[in-house]
Amino acid sequence: MLPLVYHPIYSQLDLPEGHRYPITKYRLLYDYLNCELNITNRAITAFHQPIPIEAHELKSLHCPDYIEALVNNSLPAAKMRRIGFPWSQQLIDRTLMSAAGTRLTVDLAFEHGIGIHLSGGYHHAHHDFGSGFCLINDLAFAARHALTLDGIEKVMIIDCDVHQGDGTATLLADEPNIITFSVHCDKNFPARKPDSDIDLALPKSTTTNEYIETFESILNLALAQHQPDFILYDAGVDIHKDDELGYFDISLNGIFERDRLVLNHCHSDRIPIAAVVGGGYRKDHQQLIKLHTQLVHAAIAVYQPERMFRP
Ligand SMILES: [Zn+2]
Repeated sequence: MLPLVYHPIYSQLDLPEGHRYPITKYRLLYDYLNCELNITNRAITAFHQPIPIEAHELKSLHCPDYIEALVNNSLPAAKMRRIGFPWSQQLIDRTLMSAAGTRLTVDLAFEHGIGIHLSGGYHHAHHDFGSGFCLINDLAFAARHALTLDGIEKVMIIDCDVHQGDGTATLLADEPNIITFSVHCDKNFPARKPDSDIDLALPKSTTTNEYIETFESILNLALAQHQPDFILYDAGVDIHKDDELGYFDISLNGIFERDRLVLNHCHSDRIPIAAVVGGGYRKDHQQLIKLHTQLVHAAIAVYQPERMFRP
């Protein structure tokens, strides 16, 4: 069974009219996978629901004062503007749930070899401030959790969202056992890009072939050099040519090929992988969902979950 992690709260957030964040995409993605593809009935996937983490669990990763102010709605207005969402209890609840979801995905991946979170990838959250729709860095939080699992000594975060994983890079800069690897557009948000352990910055208008070829060669080198025994993967689809916030020229099939490439490595090298859906901002939500489902299609193609527990 291919484990998928989801909670309805992910899409339960009232936003001002015209807000660019596609908050409904999580529910639409779940509905699409659950109904239209009918994959649960094919008995190859299983949905899991997280239970929310407590805010105090974040205080060893983020600045305790930041967490305190965030949950109590006492952040200065400028800090809320940088996050990009108005404060609400819904916002805090879904954020804590999503961090729990990425952590649960790590546990499921440890057990099954793979897990997919239908949320996550809040890589612009830093130690004492949030940014770019990210409040809590679920990737850094879950990567640290992975290091507590039996036999896991080195974790790699492969972040293929079109935007650089700046928060993850700064939060984990002094963590030698978590390797941060970001593949992103060189002229996109965030303006200031602190060093990850590995940064692959590609120019605007990078095509599918250029992307896959370059990414594959750096991925091979990175895995050979660091030999991680657990991978977190941010499968952001804002690399697509029609994404509102991306500048690459990458096709739907290019997203599938990228995801299949990463998953193939993990499958053949027997490295557990916890994947999150990451960014994706197309206004046409049906098209956006199609992009995010590529990750699940690639996982089904590589892992053949109908055979996962059969001889
Ligand atoms: Zn992004």
